[in-house]
Amino acid sequence: MGASHILQLSYMLTEALFVGIIIVTLFSMRHKFGIALLYITLGTFQYLQAVLASFLYFEIFPGLFVSPGSAVLFNASLFAVLLIYIREDVAEARKLIYGLVFANITLTIFLLIIGSHIQGLPSEQVSHIPLQVFNFTPRILIAGTLTLTADVLLIIIIYELFSRHISNLFLRIYSAMAVVLIFDTLVFTTGSGIISQQDQYLTFLISAMIGKLLFGLFYSIMLIFYLKYFGKREYVSHGKDSEIKDIFTFLTYRQKYELLCKEIHKDHLTGLYNRGFLNESLPRELDKAKANGDKTALLMIDVDNFKSINDVFGHQEGDRILVFLATVITQSIREMDLACRYGGEEFSLILPRTHINSAVQLAERIRDKLALLSDSHKPALARKITLTIGVAVAPEQADNAEDLVCIADKRLYIGKKRGRNCIVSTG
Ligand code: GH3
Ligand code: MG
Ligand code: MG
Repeated sequence: MGASHILQLSYMLTEALFVGIIIVTLFSMRHKFGIALLYITLGTFQYLQAVLASFLYFEIFPGLFVSPGSAVLFNASLFAVLLIYIREDVAEARKLIYGLVFANITLTIFLLIIGSHIQGLPSEQVSHIPLQVFNFTPRILIAGTLTLTADVLLIIIIYELFSRHISNLFLRIYSAMAVVLIFDTLVFTTGSGIISQQDQYLTFLISAMIGKLLFGLFYSIMLIFYLKYFGKREYVSHGKDSEIKDIFTFLTYRQKYELLCKEIHKDHLTGLYNRGFLNESLPRELDKAKANGDKTALLMIDVDNFKSINDVFGHQEGDRILVFLATVITQSIREMDLACRYGGEEFSLILPRTHINSAVQLAERIRDKLALLSDSHKPALARKITLTIGVAVAPEQADNAEDLVCIADKRLYIGKKRGRNCIVSTG
């Protein structure tokens, strides 16, 4: 790698840095000046991108020719779409995507008209025109527009898809960009017929791919840098969702929706799932168990004489005991078990792949732990917090959710009649 390569690479990185800074600056000023500033700027890039990619290539490494059109400006469009999608939502990103696609369609049609206009001119006039600037075949323009449409849609879909599997934000952004860049290079190079000779095809393809991936990495770093150090401040200062902090500020629209769905299923006092979640998930768990031939146990747990605890120590202390009990339960169960607050001072546990004996053992563990912990935690109350637990197992005792709850509940009631502070798994 010679001095000339380093110079070309430095220039191109400077160009990418400039474009990236312009994008994030215009984006962060959107509340003052409107988003049009950014969108118009991105629109102008569309023409430049097409022109530069058609004839301007720099050798940034020996044998690696990269165009600022594709490596800098095309990557910049993906960068902007992702930035808007992550920071705003899919509705705002959609506007930009429509804008980019429309700008490309308009450009295609206009360049085709100009192209045929030039062809009609006498040859002495044509010699003065820098023809590269208009020298597009319809196939290149149409393939370019179609690929770009697919790219800007794909970047969001793939980013979303990866968000379920890749928790690291930087990796998620770069992986999504890399997939789209590889797709774009393959489809555009093949579809546009830009390379006519077979032997050049592979060289061009690899060169274009490496160039785009390299600058894709640069833009991904810029994006994560902006989101971490600048976007957050700007985001919070507008008060929008300001209660959402840290990693949650990076959540996307759909992730926020999923978070909300989870919140709907949460009990706010204890942080466990609520009864609505039990009603939804128990039939699902039983279906899954049926398909695998597994047993599912259900525990119904009720605090004994809770009313008198409230009466003696007050409602607030009662609440603290419920939170304490929820912690004891959470610490006693496996990751696959589902703990719900059924209502008031009643809790239910769904235990997948669990036989009756193991379910009873867990019930005992919870009671022991509660006695032990509450002893060290609050000696005055230690003797007073006891539990009665009803246990039922599917499919042998009930083959649907409603019956299973009913049986566990009936056993809980039997336990209460027997004098409380016990576990009942028969009857
Ligand atoms: P038993 O042993 O028969 O279960 O007696 P109990 O007093 O626990 O039963 P009961 O169902 O009659 O009373 C439950 C009490 O739980 C009544 C209600 O005041 C109290 N409770 C329900 N929800 C909450 C809550 O969120 N916080 C507090 N502190 N108390 C609650
Ligand atoms: Mg009760
Ligand atoms: Mg009770």
